[in-house]
Amino acid sequence: MKADYLIVGQGLAGSVLAWTLDQRGKRVVLVDAAERPSASLAAAGIFNPLTGKKLVRTWKADELFPFLKTFYSRVEQVLQTRFLHFSTIYRPYRSIEEQNTYLALTADVSIGQYVNESVDDEHYRPYIHNPHGGLEVTGAGWVEVPVFLDAIRRYFRKKGQYVEAHFDVRELDIRPDSVAWRSQVYGKLLFCEGPHAHQNPLFDWLPYNPVKGQTLEVEIDNYPIREIVNQGIFLLPVESNRYRVGATYTWHDLDWQTTEDGKAFLEQKLRMLLKVPYCVVGQRVGIRPATKDRRPLIGLHPAYPAVGIFNGLGTKGVSLAPFFASQLADFLEGRKELDPEVNIERTFSLYYSGKKPA
Ligand SMILES: Cc1cc2nc3c(=O)[nH]c(=O)nc-3n(C[C@H](O)[C@H](O)[C@H](O)COP(=O)(O)OP(=O)(O)OC[C@H]3O[C@@H](n4cnc5c(N)ncnc54)[C@H](O)[C@@H]3O)c2cc1C
Repeated sequence: MKADYLIVGQGLAGSVLAWTLDQRGKRVVLVDAAERPSASLAAAGIFNPLTGKKLVRTWKADELFPFLKTFYSRVEQVLQTRFLHFSTIYRPYRSIEEQNTYLALTADVSIGQYVNESVDDEHYRPYIHNPHGGLEVTGAGWVEVPVFLDAIRRYFRKKGQYVEAHFDVRELDIRPDSVAWRSQVYGKLLFCEGPHAHQNPLFDWLPYNPVKGQTLEVEIDNYPIREIVNQGIFLLPVESNRYRVGATYTWHDLDWQTTEDGKAFLEQKLRMLLKVPYCVVGQRVGIRPATKDRRPLIGLHPAYPAVGIFNGLGTKGVSLAPFFASQLADFLEGRKELDPEVNIERTFSLYYSGKKPA
């Protein structure tokens, strides 16, 4: 057998899963098509335990966050590279009402544990509109995703376990306990194709709900704030005077093209947030592999147990991938069941009814 696992797709999902299996002593071959655009290369890479206008705790944050920190730190250490950054997230209140609502929410320890007790609003005031002050979320940060992906690619390439190719299901021979691809046999095939999965005839019946997103790259001089700032949009310091601003969410025109509308929307929000001038120097676009019930899609094919999927990471790939890759690895080793909330078994009726989701 060529390898225990053949993984298709080297975005966040494929990279995290390949590393997880490799570190458990499995032999993994990664296949990626450089010409297919990837969500991961557009991602800001932020992990944030409290999100949205309603300051909601991220699903499973208490389990995901300690896990992701250990995971990315370990990869940094082994591969001698840096891509994990910790930062608080400053959220200026939009109004006195919002201030009151948020402060009431933080009385609950499940929210309060992620909030700084004292905030120095004056630190932000010369640069950020914050007439009502703001709240600081702790336990947050960001992963420089392209740097992480590069490090993983180099690692598998060096071991001779990386193939640059477009994987076509028609070249596949599926057997009861293995698969064959290009004259080589693999124990299992795991698809990590992100937003391209709906084109895969083996998994086109899953309930995807892709979301297009755009970000801007801006330069701001004389802006010394190194924390992430968030009010409807995020402003993320990337390097010296470079910042990323995002993101948009749209469910139509899923075409990987940046738009003037997207740029105008982000600039309008940025002007409301910033007191200092900025200059737009770039724009990015990606399609988030989101799902109808906003939970990942993980597990083995209902008819072909040698074929599986690790997808549906949606808007939170950085936080979800390490924890659920480990859970999938346990499952593949026969040690633990998958969480029913992520297991694709919950959608098998769609497969058996032969109906594609609307
Ligand atoms: C604008 C934007 C901002 C975002 N910000 C954040 C953020 O701040 N924090 C966060 O956690 N998440 C964020 N996300 C979401 C994050 O990008 C995704 O959750 C994550 O990247 C999904 O990873 P993936 O590996 O499933 O998909 P992808 O990154 O798309 O990877 C799929 C890979 O598979 C390859 N591939 C597909 N089909 C084939 C095939 N047949 N053969 C060979 N290769 C194939 C593609 O080339 C690609 O490399 C953001 C997304 C967008 C668009």
